[in-house]
Parts: sequence; structure tokens; C-alpha cells
Amino acid sequence: MIVILKENHDKRQLDNLIAWLKSMDINVHISEGIRQTVLGLIGDTSIVDADLIRALDIVEDVKLVQEPYKKANRKFHPQDTVVDVSGVKVGAGHFCIIAGPCSIESEEQICGIARSVKQAGAAMLRGGAFKPRTSPYAFQGLRANGIEMLLLAKKETGLPIVSEIMDISQLPLFEEVDLLQVGARNMQNFELLKELGTLDKPILLKRGLSSTIQELLMSAEYIMASGNENVILCERGIRTFETYTRNTLDISAIPLVKELSHLPVIVDPSHATGISRLVKPMSVAAAAAGADGLIIEVHNDPPHALCDGVQSITPAAFADLVANIKAILPNAHHY
Ligand code: PEP
Ligand code: MN
Repeated sequence: MIVILKENHDKRQLDNLIAWLKSMDINVHISEGIRQTVLGLIGDTSIVDADLIRALDIVEDVKLVQEPYKKANRKFHPQDTVVDVSGVKVGAGHFCIIAGPCSIESEEQICGIARSVKQAGAAMLRGGAFKPRTSPYAFQGLRANGIEMLLLAKKETGLPIVSEIMDISQLPLFEEVDLLQVGARNMQNFELLKELGTLDKPILLKRGLSSTIQELLMSAEYIMASGNENVILCERGIRTFETYTRNTLDISAIPLVKELSHLPVIVDPSHATGISRLVKPMSVAAAAAGADGLIIEVHNDPPHALCDGVQSITPAAFADLVANIKAILPNAHHY
């Protein structure tokens, strides 16, 4: 971090600033020019609040030379992280396809879809029991009953399961859920992130609707800073001015996030586009861009789905999608 001081700054205020930084174990290198004085902060500056310094009377500007995330940063962890979800590896060449309905609707529905996606090559089963819906009158999910049905599908197929947790009070219901999903709307629910950071369970963190890449990585940092480093990131589209698609899939985020972070990155082409016929081309694009996996909404009867039917693909279309992915990633370790 570099702090540029105002001309004719008050020396006592500067001494106070330096003393405060030193109390945080930050070394300060002072460069005095003819007009301007610049401070170079050396040490773990991730704990220093740049805005607080920027607001000081004596400070002209603050420039960040290091990303504010440390544990998620590839600079301090050059090799790819592999997250193990009950035996299914994600990252570092382990390509993982997660599939299942947006919402769990009945035992027959979730078990039937689980069988067909497993046969087609899915490595994990998704299914929402707690649904974050825009309208309070829309289907909210089967909640605890939904989780029970998802557990039956896990028992029957052996597939690890993924489900969204919306509030920490729901945690007891998620004991046997293998991968806990933090949805886009909760990406910056910091209390939830901190609690999930205390668990010994992998977390699937989806990018917020209007979140920057840095905000996504800072949210991962929250989970990791609390002790849980098993985080899988998910690019699921962001809001733009475009209205044809539900969101705009940020393909460039895939190689960029992988450059900045060692965490695995998977892609959700279903929520990114909101259009079932775009799911296959976007999946192929994501795989080609270096994603570590996909999470795809599959429904046995999309027109009658209780949630997100227009973006859901059938089991047959899913099998075709997996074949396409295998064709472009012949050496990936897992499907
Ligand atoms: C979901 O995966 O069911 C979901 C609600 O996705 P998102 O949080 O990305 O909107
Ligand atoms: Mn959905």
C-alpha cells in the first residue's frame, strides 16, 4: 500500500499515523521528495483499512499495490487447490459436473432425475430446498422435507449432494449435505460466510448478481479467514443492460479468477442465461475457457417445473451436453 501525503502536512499527525501503522506490525518506508512525501507500507496490509487512511487530513491519496485478499490469493498459494467433496475432486484438472433440478419437488422427481443425471455422467446432484425467490408468493421450496428427499436420492445413487443454505439457523438440516451452496443473493451475507467458515465442509460460493470479481474473492476470503479453505467459486452471470438473457455470463471471469486465485471455478450456465437452449453452448465455452466444472439445472418435465423451467434442460439434453464436454476435455479426470 502506498500513501501519498499532502504538501505541508502536519508532522504530528504523520507521527500518529506511523505509530498506528507500527502498532499493526506494518513497517513504513518514507520517501521525501522536493514537494511530495510518499509512504510505502510493508507487511500484511490486508488488515489495514485504506479508506480510513484516505480520509485523514494529511493524506492526498492511497494506492493499493496488493490485493486485499490473502488466503484466496494465488500469489501466496501458487498451485491449484483441489476441493474434495465426499470423494469427488474439483479443481486442478478434475472437471466436475453437478446436475439436478432447481428445486426438489417430490421424492419421485428428485430420485428420478438423480438416476438419469448419474447415468449421463454427473458427479454430484443439485437440488434446492430453500429457494430465494423474488416474489414472496412464488414457490419457496420444500424446506426440511426437500432436504429429506434429497438425502433419499443421495442414498439411492451414491451421488454427493449440493443444496443452498440461506440462513445459519438451517444448518442442522444440512449435516448430511456434502456441499453447501451460498447463493448469489447471499454472497455478501457476511455473518453467514463467517459461520460457514467455521465448518469442516466444502462451500460453493456463487457470484452476486452485481458483484465484482474482487468482491467475490473477498467473500471467499471471509470463509477462508474463519478457517474453512474448501471453497469452490461459481460464475453464474451478472446483471448488465442486456435483457434477452436473464444475466450475462462473464466468461472472462473464469481465466481471470483462476489467475488471481488458486480456488476452483465452476460455471452455472442455467442461471447465467435463463434459456435452456443456451445451456449447452455456454457449457462448452466455459470448459474451453478453463472452468473446473459446471452446475446445470436438469428437470424431467421442464414446462411443469415449479421453479426455473425455462432454463432447465431434459435428462436427454444433459446426456448430449456431457458428451460434448467430454469431446473437448478428453483428459479431464472426472465427469
Ligand atoms: C440456484 O442455484 O438455485 C440459485 C438460486 O442460483 P443463484 O443464487 O446463482 O441465483
Ligand atoms: Mn434455479
